Amino acid sequence: MLYGKENREEAAYLDPIFGSNSEGCDLPKYKLNQKSVEPRIAYQLVQDELLDEGNARLNLATFCQTYMEPEAEKLMSQTLAKNAIDKSEYPRTAELENRCVNMIGDLWHAQADEKFIGTSTIGSSEACMLGGMAMKFAWRKRAEKLGVDIHARKPNLVISSGYQVCWEKFCVYWDVELREVPLDSKHLSLNLDHVMDYVDEYTIGIVGILGITYTGRYDNIAELNEIVEEHNRNTPHKVYIHVDAASGGLYAPFVEPELIWDFQLNNVVSINASGHKYGLVYPGVGWVLWRDQKFLPEELVFKVSYLGGELPTMAINFSHSAAQLIGQYYNFVRYGFEGYQEIHQKTHKVAQYLADAIAACDRFELINDGSHLPIVCYKLKDPDAQEWTLYDLADRLLMKGWQVPAYPLPKNLDQQVIQRLVIRADLGMNMACDYVQDMQAAIHDLDRAHLVYHEKKTIKTYGFTH
Ligand SMILES: *Cc1c(COP(=O)(O)O)cnc(C)c1O
Repeated sequence: MLYGKENREEAAYLDPIFGSNSEGCDLPKYKLNQKSVEPRIAYQLVQDELLDEGNARLNLATFCQTYMEPEAEKLMSQTLAKNAIDKSEYPRTAELENRCVNMIGDLWHAQADEKFIGTSTIGSSEACMLGGMAMKFAWRKRAEKLGVDIHARKPNLVISSGYQVCWEKFCVYWDVELREVPLDSKHLSLNLDHVMDYVDEYTIGIVGILGITYTGRYDNIAELNEIVEEHNRNTPHKVYIHVDAASGGLYAPFVEPELIWDFQLNNVVSINASGHKYGLVYPGVGWVLWRDQKFLPEELVFKVSYLGGELPTMAINFSHSAAQLIGQYYNFVRYGFEGYQEIHQKTHKVAQYLADAIAACDRFELINDGSHLPIVCYKLKDPDAQEWTLYDLADRLLMKGWQVPAYPLPKNLDQQVIQRLVIRADLGMNMACDYVQDMQAAIHDLDRAHLVYHEKKTIKTYGFTH
């Protein structure tokens, strides 16, 4: 979010660059300049502005894809102008989206006797918004039929406190109470002993998370499904599960195909994933699927014209570029099942190597060892044994270009500061070895440092953690 700038005088480009005449004028930074400038100058100015940003490949903070093949980039830049919503003008693009939904439905074991339905989105946030809305509308219908006074209380959504911020947004935007099942040191994922204590007649659904953003842990969806099954057997007030598989949805099916978490479980009614996380596409694409059309209330489906006819759509956004969608389809065609599997297994191996190296350091205790999602996170074994904190370590690593966030765990565990590495396909073993060396050197330096910047007692979020 951006705020107005007060000192507008200072806020101008003052010096000409690279000695061109047309560079000899001042350009304001916070209002439009009066005249236009040459493309070359605009290009140079903007590029220079971006020079000191982090190097995406060294960013171990983000789940988002930071590398695509040149062919994918070429296709995507050639298709930037296509508008994904304009199905009538771009029917082939619409068909590619349709194929992607089918491929993902297959990957998530959509059942033959049901009619799955799904759509692309801008990312998991939009996908979760749609999944949440469908749950809310479907609950309202069920509750009204059962004679529940739906206006007496706010509906609620049950999720572990390790939720990603999009669920908080969903609850604020659509006036739903967010019921958090707290994480505790024994339960670093959804606490199944207590989850049903939070469920009542006003519960629109339970969200299971396949890859908690903070730690990389998976909620046990199969066991949750059993608990919900038992609950639904004994009450007319049924509740269903949405799986937020933003990161795991396009990872687990390849690396742990035996893990049962998807539409094989009959109470899992909808699932979302980010194409731009382990779907290996640059930021801007996500997916949401319902196991059967009956779980997607028809009020939420709108019609757009398509080749003289109509096509159902469901999205919060309208116009946006189809390039990411096409990038996703390219990846599916290019890699196939085995390609994704190989890439993700390699990423898994790098995560194991890093987890082992970090454990071997003796300073840290692993909280997630990358055995499911390739996320390694750890805390200091004995914070009092040295002068420095994980924030200082993050600083030293940043000197080498590595972006590694340090932050407290969610509510209840927020006295615990951890550091997290998200391993992506473009972090090869060579780079991982370099990282370990840099980390060892950083620890060596910090042990001998006399000046530390971060108060030992301060708990804060440092770096990008979403
Ligand atoms: C990343 C993430 C999101 C948000 O996904 P975007 O694609 O960035 O909108 C939602 N839920 C979880 C669990 C995530 O990890």
